[in-house]
Amino acid sequence: MAKIIAVVNQKGGVGKTTTAINLSASLAAAGKKVLLVDLDPQGNTTSGFGVNRLALPGSIYDVLIRKLSLDDVFHKSCVDGLTLIPARSDLVGAEIELVDVPGREQRLKQALEDACKSFDYCFIDCPPSLGILTLNALTAADSVLVPIQCEYYALEGLGQLQETIWRVREAYNPDLVLEGILLTMFDSRNTLCHQVAQQIHEHFDRRVFHNVIPRNVALAEAPSHGAPVFLYDRHSRGAQAYHQLAKEVIDYAEKGIREGFGSTPAGYKPGPGSRDAAH
Ligand code: ATP
Ligand code: MG
Repeated sequence: MAKIIAVVNQKGGVGKTTTAINLSASLAAAGKKVLLVDLDPQGNTTSGFGVNRLALPGSIYDVLIRKLSLDDVFHKSCVDGLTLIPARSDLVGAEIELVDVPGREQRLKQALEDACKSFDYCFIDCPPSLGILTLNALTAADSVLVPIQCEYYALEGLGQLQETIWRVREAYNPDLVLEGILLTMFDSRNTLCHQVAQQIHEHFDRRVFHNVIPRNVALAEAPSHGAPVFLYDRHSRGAQAYHQLAKEVIDYAEKGIREGFGSTPAGYKPGPGSRDAAH
């Protein structure tokens, strides 16, 4: 049964998709069977593999809304051992179409139940929001990987993300834990990057991955070639960093999981206005 890892941060442009693509690809290159779900209507993971989104017979939208089986929308990627579940822009409609559907947050979990039996890892690339799509990812996941860009506003919004995770744990997925905080786009010549990294370490301590992803032009260029970075430039620092991160992820999976995303604070209750409070 696959370990399901949701790549989440409601902040945009922090490296979620770059991480989902390259970490999945590195795990597949290490011999693991990997399923990668594009759960973002922007479809950057899908186009990052050079898939023509307009010519797709089916996508994750059909799974969530039309209850198609995941097998029906499996898309073989250019990396051996890595299967993609693509997204089209119609996925944006799912946020609205699912609003009044009972059990709306369970749709992805149900779809993954059977499909995950034939994989070692499943990654879910989330959109930059904490809406129903991300809620589906958090409900289905075993753990959450949070990429954080080393910049001034890095920690902004993390409290809200942490609260969302507590709500999901309380209402739908009590076993959800933190896979790790991943520092991305790190520029060692930039003093601010070092200061922010130190701040993140003080805040999250051992829950930060040892491996840091450097700012690297090959990582930015690879998607326009429709390939993960190690197929585009395998000697690049970006490719090396994601290979090392894959080893770290495998180590955690095989030697026991990291601790949780902080414990739920005593007396914590979802706010009365929240959707989750009704459950
Ligand atoms: P969104 O919230 O819009 O989904 P995201 O969190 O998925 O964004 P990415 O799309 O992975 O972020 O990255 C944002 C931009 O930064 C992209 O142009 C990507 O190519 C670039 N980028 C990501 N990581 C790196 C890196 N380590 N070095 C250089 N460029 C990077
Ligand atoms: Mg993205």
